[in-house]
Formats: sequence, structure tokens, C-alpha cells
Amino acid sequence: MSLPQATPQRQQQLQENFQKVEQRIEEACHKAERPRESVQLLAVSKTKPLEDVLSLAAIGQQAFGENYLQEALDKIAQAPDLEWHFIGPIQSNKTRPIAENFAWVHSVDRLKIARRLSEQRPPNSAALKILLEINLDDESSKAGFNEHDIEDAVSEVLQMPHIELRGLMAIPMIRSDFAGQRAVFRRLKILLDALQKKFPDARLDTLSMGMSGDLEAAIMEGATWIRIGTDLFGARDYGSKA
Ligand SMILES: *Cc1c(COP(=O)(O)O)cnc(C)c1O
Repeated sequence: MSLPQATPQRQQQLQENFQKVEQRIEEACHKAERPRESVQLLAVSKTKPLEDVLSLAAIGQQAFGENYLQEALDKIAQAPDLEWHFIGPIQSNKTRPIAENFAWVHSVDRLKIARRLSEQRPPNSAALKILLEINLDDESSKAGFNEHDIEDAVSEVLQMPHIELRGLMAIPMIRSDFAGQRAVFRRLKILLDALQKKFPDARLDTLSMGMSGDLEAAIMEGATWIRIGTDLFGARDYGSKA
């Protein structure tokens, strides 16, 4: 089976975008006095074709994030050697293919999902790395654990055999001011620090926060995965998916 290829123009565009994002990450790391290797780039490829993914992979990007399960499974089937992260909303009847096909899940927003992912992870695969999604904005419509009662959830999830809890994730409301962006990310960092103290034997080393518009603030506050879509691939065309 031959894999699709982006046009030379598209490859060049993606390479330029990738270099610009890389430069922003380097500058932010420098300002934050953090080593470049302390921040990992997740390329969010939702709605973008496989050839875009392969173009970035060809210049060294390994980790890709997807929100829509069927779209993701189609890409994974053709590029199984890349590292795939699920970052979208999870319906509980869709956990099995997620448990079977991804390396990481950032968007675990309730205990039932964690339990099902653990039960459904194939026992011969490495533990599925997961993050708990925290609702930092307290909008009742938003998914995620409440930051004030996360400890009990963490202690339960740490007992589950086929998943490895690695930290926290958040998708805060878009804020335009840098100080406001930093303040909300700082809350997630403080929460992770408290959990590390409370559960010293767990490997809680991961903060997934920061997108195209606020990656600098996220890096200043300790992000270890930043999730970048628009500034790598261009604006999304949702078509029938919106
Ligand atoms: C789409 C998406 C992103 C990427 O956002 P951009 O603003 O396009 O960089 C990051 N995280 C999640 C959870 C997303 O759904």
C-alpha cells in the first residue's frame, strides 16, 4: 500500500510552520530558564489529512494528537509507528478502540473512563499513559475533574493496573492577556505539585497545557506537553464535522 504524499508546496509550508513553532518553544524555554527537552510538542492533526502528518513525521515530529476517534483510527492504521495521543471528548462506549490504539490519553475526565481504559487495555501492551483533565473554568458545561476534589480520584486511578497516571491536562478558556493565561496555567502546576507531594511514589511528571495561542504562557508555568494544531497545520476546515 503506498502512502499519500503532500505536494511540495504543502511540505514546504508545513516545514516553515514547524520551524516557527520550534523557535517559539525555544524562546519560551529560554525565558523560563528551562531546557528545551523539558517541553514536548504534540502536533494536533485533527481534520488534517494523513499526508500532512507524514510530512511532519519526515522532518522529525513523532507525536500526534487526535480528537475524533474514527478519523484517528484511519490514520493510525496507516501510520502505526508514530506515537498517537487521544485528546478529545470520550464517550464511555468508545473506550475500547482508544485503549487498543493509543499510547497516551490526555482527556480522561471521569473515573468511569479511567476504569474502562484500564480494563480494556490489551494486557500484552505497555500500560496506557493517561492524564486527568481538570476543569479550571468551573463552567458546568465543561468536562473534567474539579481541582478541589482531585485527590480521591488520583488515589483510585493509581490502583488501576493497565494504565499509568502521569499527570494533568487542561483546556482553559481562551484569554488574550499573557498574565491571565499564566495565572490559569499556574493553578494546574500548583495542583500537580501538591499531588506529587501527596503521592511521592507515582510518576506524576506531566502537564499537558498550552495551544497555539498560549504556548508561551504554558511553558512559563511548567507545561511538559504543548498541544499545537493551528500554528502547525493552518486553520481547520471542519466541513461536515462542525
Ligand atoms: C484542537 C485542540 C488543540 C489545538 O489547538 P490549536 O489552537 O489549534 O493549536 C489542542 N488541544 C485540544 C484538546 C484540542 O482539541
